Amino acid sequence: MDFDKLKLKCECGGTMEKVMTEWNGFKLRGWKCRKCKEEILHPVDTQRALEIVRARKKNLLVVKLRRVGKSNVVTIPQPIIEAEKLREGQKLEWRIDGKDLILRQQA
Ligand SMILES: [Zn+2]
Repeated sequence: MDFDKLKLKCECGGTMEKVMTEWNGFKLRGWKCRKCKEEILHPVDTQRALEIVRARKKNLLVVKLRRVGKSNVVTIPQPIIEAEKLREGQKLEWRIDGKDLILRQQA
């Protein structure tokens, strides 16, 4: 199912347009009714955010910096691998943003 091409109609009969919405610090895609302002969240984005929230609660996202040979290594927790569909060999890049280290997928 291709959600991006989905045309949704609201229960009130209004037209729903695509929006970006924020939930628990996550940016989620969704749709918003022009008439009654009802919002629907993108099921894939919602699932992804929920998995990470759950993992965070169980402390599954805390990792330790280790040294392997001459390299410094941090592991990527499995919930992130699954949520972001990361594969071995894929290129990731670090970005330093103030005190935050951001690891992002290279396009
Ligand atoms: Zn509506």
